[in-house]
Amino acid sequence: MSTPSPVPKFKTRLLTAVGAAALVVLVTLSGLTRNADAWVYDVLVRSAAPAADGRIVVVDIDQKSLAELGRWPWSRRLHAQLIDRLHLAGVKGVAFNVLLSEPALFDPEGDALLARALGRSGRVVLPVLAEQVQLNGPSVELMPIPEFAASAASLGHSEMMLDDDGVARSVFLRAGLGSPHWPALALALHQLDTPPGGTPELPGRRMASIDKDASPYQWVRDHQVLIPYADPPNAFRHVSYTDVLNQRIPPTMLRGHWAIVGMNATGVGTEAKVPGHSANARISGADYQANLLNMLLKDAAITPMREGGQALLSMLIVMLPLLLCSLPGLQRMWRPTVLTMGLASLLSVLLLRFAHLWFSPVPVLLVLALAASLWLYRLLRRTHKQAQSDALTGLANRNRFDHALDQELRVARRTGQPLSLLVMDIDHFKQLNDTQGHAAGDAALKALARVLRSRARRPRDLVARLGGDEFAVLLPETSAQAAATIATTIHVDLANLATRPHGASVAAVPAFTTSIGIHTTQPTGDELGPEDVFDRADAALYRAKQAGRNRSFSHTGEHEPMGAVAGRVG
Ligand code: GH3
Ligand code: MG
Repeated sequence: MSTPSPVPKFKTRLLTAVGAAALVVLVTLSGLTRNADAWVYDVLVRSAAPAADGRIVVVDIDQKSLAELGRWPWSRRLHAQLIDRLHLAGVKGVAFNVLLSEPALFDPEGDALLARALGRSGRVVLPVLAEQVQLNGPSVELMPIPEFAASAASLGHSEMMLDDDGVARSVFLRAGLGSPHWPALALALHQLDTPPGGTPELPGRRMASIDKDASPYQWVRDHQVLIPYADPPNAFRHVSYTDVLNQRIPPTMLRGHWAIVGMNATGVGTEAKVPGHSANARISGADYQANLLNMLLKDAAITPMREGGQALLSMLIVMLPLLLCSLPGLQRMWRPTVLTMGLASLLSVLLLRFAHLWFSPVPVLLVLALAASLWLYRLLRRTHKQAQSDALTGLANRNRFDHALDQELRVARRTGQPLSLLVMDIDHFKQLNDTQGHAAGDAALKALARVLRSRARRPRDLVARLGGDEFAVLLPETSAQAAATIATTIHVDLANLATRPHGASVAAVPAFTTSIGIHTTQPTGDELGPEDVFDRADAALYRAKQAGRNRSFSHTGEHEPMGAVAGRVG
């Protein structure tokens, strides 16, 4: 029996690595781990939350404002006043996240006032939104009415990107009907300060499939980035619309600030779940834009890796254990595999923190965990096998023998078949060791193991080394007569071994003999336990030794020397 080496063959490793690489590509492209990816992302991104920029202030159309100023929608005159107040206080810019896509039918004067206020400020950006007019129908862009659009400093889309689980993880920095011509609202605000023509390269994942001839009714998005939310996501300074309007906010709190005005009252306006926070911690559209602006100010936008890049990197990582396993201490395959899992997770964290790049380690972890379990299973099986066998001879050890004797005894009792046990011990082994050396002693032990194995060939026969120079052969469904014959052949084989002409391979085996004790349980059966059976065979062995060694005695037989062998050696 050959023990498998701890490191699998190179070919096995290579095949496993190629299989793992193929599997990780499949897992990545199938989107199988999408939920787990999102979960891991949420945890990691929250741990790297940026601080909320103190220059951002959110002006909430909140319950207090609704209570003081009346039911929504409000007169555009109020908005005009608010814009003026913010302008006079010296804000850097305003994102007025209220959709103004219809004229006020009964108050054209209010619209005119707002348009003028927008013009006076020159620093207000207004939202555009895509809306489907009919179910499954084409989308339309809901733009501010022309007077507002003309007076606004800029326009931006206010789409809140929700993933399948309702969490707003990302934003498309550009989107629009037919082509992505609108910047996101916060980006439009941020770009108020950018000199014309000096627009820096936008971050984010480009949409490969933007078709120049796309349907003009299709909402097209580009430059997808993941938003690192502040913790908590509404950590920005919040003021009530009505407090700004009624000058209850000191102008210093607004001067030089970016103001984001929006609905923040329960039941009105859009709300979204935030990554890494409970569903209760929803944020308003204004807070979404505030986080977006915060991200832009800090240059902290996270770009999700493309699927192709993600698959390629994952593929390279799962091949890593193949290289690592040649390092000292990493020879057991599960070790480099587990180490690589750690490295993949670390890489993901480092890319997120320092390169603002999101690479999900989940597909790699999944595939490597699978591989590690396989290696570990192999290892356990091998360890289990080793725990049951003798290292020198490869025979079963005492442990396994005890277990087998117990089992076979039960079977014999149930089936009424005889069970024979041979227990043997090499004669004068100590002397052999002393005179010819330990190596010769080992060679003798191995030679005996070979002989025993060749004489106990039935599938259920068991040959065991019980320890030292003591061996046992368990022979199910074997009568006393047959057992005695086998014992005799063992004596003969050993004698032949000793008298064999010295060849290259046998020269090292010294001459030796063995004494054998036999016990056969009878079908009519005594109810002996395994210890009793063993003791009886052992007692027979003792008598064989007493009677002069190199012979077999059976427990049942009256000191019957069955193995008086011609050509006795030693
Ligand atoms: P007896 O005929 O009465 O059995 O005499 P003996 O010298 O064989 O006595 P015993 O069975 O007690 O001797 C066991 C000796 O076997 C003791 C030790 O030197 C030797 N031995 C035990 N295990 C090993 C082994 O793994 N390799 C070698 N070479 N010798 C071993
Ligand atoms: Mg001995």
